[in-house]
Amino acid sequence: MKAVRVKEYGGPEAMCYEDIDVPSPGANDVLVKVEAAGINFIDTYQRSGLYQIPLPATLGLEAGGIVEEVGSDVSLFKAGDRVAYTNVAGAYAEYASVPEDKLVALPDGVSFAEGAAAMLQGCTAHYLSQSTYKIKSGDSCLIHAAAGGVGLLLIQMAKMAGASVIGTVSTEEKAELARAAGADEVILYSETDFETEVKRITDGKGVNVAYDSVGKTTFDKSIDCLQRLGYMVLYGNASGPVTEFNPATLGPKGSLFLTRPTLFDYVADRESLEWRSGDVFNWIAEGKLKLRVEHFFPLSEAEEAHRALEGRKTTGKVILTP
Ligand code: NDP
Repeated sequence: MKAVRVKEYGGPEAMCYEDIDVPSPGANDVLVKVEAAGINFIDTYQRSGLYQIPLPATLGLEAGGIVEEVGSDVSLFKAGDRVAYTNVAGAYAEYASVPEDKLVALPDGVSFAEGAAAMLQGCTAHYLSQSTYKIKSGDSCLIHAAAGGVGLLLIQMAKMAGASVIGTVSTEEKAELARAAGADEVILYSETDFETEVKRITDGKGVNVAYDSVGKTTFDKSIDCLQRLGYMVLYGNASGPVTEFNPATLGPKGSLFLTRPTLFDYVADRESLEWRSGDVFNWIAEGKLKLRVEHFFPLSEAEEAHRALEGRKTTGKVILTP
């Protein structure tokens, strides 16, 4: 089968499109024929070595597809079922072997690409808004990279919870998308000082929670956008990792909370995975959550897809199709 592999860490050119054996599923595994593999920013960290993984490796942490074959002890799925999953390596390929307990059934009416988009980015927006900080009606939220894959979903979930949302984006086109998703205010943080704008918009008060996936270039100012007892949720490094921080500064700034969450811990057990993915799929079916799946690349063009994502050229979800 064809797969996209990394043998040495590097830029997008480090990915090789090549033939490897179809994986053979173990007793508790399901062989999935991948119809749509989701591209996520974390794939670029694993490719570059910012997040170290054993090499060589097939990239990709989520997909939607069809069950091809099941291991002898699998009871929840059978050949032909439509499924989706996340947090299992190897999705940039024609087939992936997935532990049964990581798979969920894809409801009728949800496409494979939507399934892929809902799993990693949808479940991330879900845990950020429901668990890391439980958004309440009347809260104010700052959401960076608001027109990105997670960003557009997080805006919608924050609005569903009754919050007011300030988004940041780099272009006017992206600002339109963030507004269409429900953002009350959008700041072009590439042109305007977002801290000053947030203070202006909130009458000097600041926000209850800052969701920061940009990292290095936004972290310090995001903290300064928080009101007393506010939550700083640093969940990504699109501009580079945050490497220096003095926790003692959280006290005088208003006894702030700081967390650095990852999806893995919020879908570690079956109950959490079913709860989060179930909510996301139900909201899609009810029309409450709109997925923007706009960018499709053939599997052979993973390199171009990564260049587009890292070059801030994409909005919403980016999909690879084998
Ligand atoms: P996005 O679609 O949001 O793409 C990243 C966006 O970050 C860009 O479009 C760009 O938006 C913004 N950005 C700001 N500065 C830079 C920069 N220097 N280089 C590139 N992009 C920049 O990606 P995803 O939705 O896949 O992921 C969003 C973030 O969330 C990532 O940081 C990812 O690692 C993180 N994440 C974390 C998870 C977790 O559990 N911790 C799970 C899933 C994602 P703009 O042009 O508007 O600035």
